[in-house]
Amino acid sequence: MPTSPTPVTAAEGRCARCKQSRAVFPAKAEWGDVPTPLCTTDWQRFAEARANRTYVDWADAFDNASDEEFEAHLSSGSPR
Ligand SMILES: [Zn+2]
Repeated sequence: MPTSPTPVTAAEGRCARCKQSRAVFPAKAEWGDVPTPLCTTDWQRFAEARANRTYVDWADAFDNASDEEFEAHLSSGSPR
């Protein structure tokens, strides 16, 4: 499971999550309904969350988790 974006797809732009202007990468289709493009930091956040079968934040879980996963995510405490 890659934890870094593929450099060849890098482009200067605005991250859809943190709104910073920096090198951004398209989100992976298998991540579901996530903001795109993403800066390296946020890209890795999603990559690690999906590798751990979890979600980066409440909005991510709300958009992408099944009902059971969503409840598990809520009961696991606040997201990092
Ligand atoms: Zn970002």
